Amino acid sequence: MPSPSGPAADDATPSGEATPEAVQDRDKLCRLADSAPVMMAYFDGPRQLCTYANRTFMQGLCDAARSPLGRALTDVMAPALGRQLSPALAVTLQDDQARTLEQPLSLRDGQQLWVEITLTPHLDPQGRRAGVYVLIVDQSRHHAAERALLESEERLSKFLQAGVEGIFFHRDGHIADANPALCELVGLSLHDLLGRPALMLIAPEHQTHTLRQLDALQDVTFETAVVHQDGTRIPVEMIDRGTVQHGEPMRMAVVRDIRDRRATQARLHYLVHHDALTGLPNRAAFLAQLDHLMVAARASDTQLALLFIDLDHFKRVNDSVGHTRGDALLKTIAQRLCECVRSTDRVARFGGDEFMVLLPGVRDREAVVRVAGKLLDAVGAPVVVEGQSISVTPSLGIALYPQDGDTPDVLIKHADAAMHVAKARGRATFAFFEQEVATTAYDQLMLEGELGHAITHDEFALLFQPQVRARDGHPVGVEALIRWQHPQRGLLAPNEFIALAEQHRLIVPIGAWVLREAARQAQQWHAAGWPLTVAVNLSTLQFQAPDFVASIQALLAETGLPAGWLELELTERMLMDDVPQVCARLLQLRALGVKLSVDDFGTGYSSLSHLKELPIDTMKIDRSFVQELPHQRESAAIASAIVQLARGLGLSVVAEGVETAAQRAFLVGLGCDQLQGMMISAPQTAAQLQAWLDRQPVPPHVP
Ligand code: C2E
Ligand code: CA
Ligand code: CA
Repeated sequence: MPSPSGPAADDATPSGEATPEAVQDRDKLCRLADSAPVMMAYFDGPRQLCTYANRTFMQGLCDAARSPLGRALTDVMAPALGRQLSPALAVTLQDDQARTLEQPLSLRDGQQLWVEITLTPHLDPQGRRAGVYVLIVDQSRHHAAERALLESEERLSKFLQAGVEGIFFHRDGHIADANPALCELVGLSLHDLLGRPALMLIAPEHQTHTLRQLDALQDVTFETAVVHQDGTRIPVEMIDRGTVQHGEPMRMAVVRDIRDRRATQARLHYLVHHDALTGLPNRAAFLAQLDHLMVAARASDTQLALLFIDLDHFKRVNDSVGHTRGDALLKTIAQRLCECVRSTDRVARFGGDEFMVLLPGVRDREAVVRVAGKLLDAVGAPVVVEGQSISVTPSLGIALYPQDGDTPDVLIKHADAAMHVAKARGRATFAFFEQEVATTAYDQLMLEGELGHAITHDEFALLFQPQVRARDGHPVGVEALIRWQHPQRGLLAPNEFIALAEQHRLIVPIGAWVLREAARQAQQWHAAGWPLTVAVNLSTLQFQAPDFVASIQALLAETGLPAGWLELELTERMLMDDVPQVCARLLQLRALGVKLSVDDFGTGYSSLSHLKELPIDTMKIDRSFVQELPHQRESAAIASAIVQLARGLGLSVVAEGVETAAQRAFLVGLGCDQLQGMMISAPQTAAQLQAWLDRQPVPPHVP
């Protein structure tokens, strides 16, 4: 067998015999070659005859039954391979150049390999071309890996080309590659981009941030903005990752256009912060703006004015013209409000028919007054909706920052309170916040809400103040005086709620309750042997109600109370309103048998000539005159005149508010018929009054 390192005879003795050492060495080399996982063979000179093949070669390529030794190349290998290698072998032999071929190779057992075939020329010691070493190394795995890499790069490149997202590769901060989508996004060609700093893509104001992200050399995702060639700034999301391209470490940045996403976000933001009907900022947005502007005002030491606008009786308008027109009206008003103010001012819809206007940097109250006036005019001007002219006035409350509140909540609350003051002043006007006014206005508001429930919650009570005959102190009647047992505020006197009840027409049901309750009590006293007249105070609204007389008639019929036991107290003003009508009404009442008295006489401006035409039974001298008796001469003169007048008209006289013995003595002296006041008794509950009656020296009897 020839030596793997060369054909036979190199180690021969001069005699041509191989030395024993040489033989040994050769055996060693043969074994080594046999154990190598590469195919080795040697083909001699021009005839290309195989003189050596290692085991791997023979197993892989040769017919086991036929030794390759001494056979030609084309005979040893598969014919196709043999034909292919043969010329290469010949050339190698000729040019003395080693060469390498890479190609597929089929083994005898059918296995397909990818091999690297190295042909190395062999020159004998004399320098003659002796043959060629053939070395076949299996590179299948390496080849597959390489192919896979290539394919993946190819895939990536196809992907990059086709992708809609911009992608660029960068190394050391410079663009190494970019896909068409990126080129399109920034309006530059690949040629323009290659080698340029990646930062040139980024909008100047985003560069510092972007650089910091990219410099981290980590996988990062962040938002930034690129600039298109035409100057458009495009918000993008950038995803930067480490990668390898063509075997080199590289960074790949995906640039995702997020304009759509931003637009959706912006739309969402708009929807969350704006009122759908008017397009004005809504309550939440306004609160944020207010907060922001308050901070700014504090920093710049300037004033803010907050104007709370509420449309007067808007519900009524809405009910009468319909919601569609009501909405159109609100839209127009919103528009007008915006037109009245500067661009730096804020207008918002706070809810239903409430709007807010915020004026930053106001110099003085006058400036605010001017704006308020403009707003009142603008809102108050009629609006034509679908051919129908609609008018609505606003009431406007103003709170100033910092003096009227230093948090948004307080400032709004105070502007709201001022707005209610404006409403209370007759609407269609404005009011600045004032602490004291606001407190009462608030109390009123609270009460207003609670007053409605007071009847159903059974919170009203009647007290009774006795009226006694002047000459002997005999109890002849009581005046019913209402109280409101308020669940939180305790017992409220009429001056704390009657005016409010009148404003809201609640006085009508309340008055009816008083009448019924008084009638019920009167009957009880009568049953107990005290034939007391019960006097009930009326309020104008009650008396003017068209069905008032009928309601009294019904009450009498229902309770069975004799009409003469009921006395109705009317004020001078009530009597003078519309004399013929009042007179007719009084006559109807008189016809029922009910008694009638003029309360607080002397405080109104009764025309005496009219008074004499009215069917009145009693006059009550007002407490204010009684109080100054007997020393104050004017009061004494007035009291005396009233008594004489009553005498002349054939009326009886009751003096109210008698507190002292001197007052009583004086009034008795004047000829007053009846007395009422603390001196006799304070107003008391029905039970207390019963006990009081029982203590009277004079026994009950019919007068
Ligand atoms: P008024 O009709 O003049 O009733 C007399 C008021 O004088 C009562 O006050 C009574 O408590 C008070 N008074 C009685 N004697 C004295 C006295 O010696 N000294 C002083 N300083 N005051 C005395 P009150 O109960 O607070 O009622 C106030 C007003 O509320 C009444 O004045 C009346 O105008 C009205 N009012 C009371 N009850 C009703 C009611 O049921 N309906 C209506 N519409 N008004 C009522
Ligand atoms: Ca009275
Ligand atoms: Ca009175």
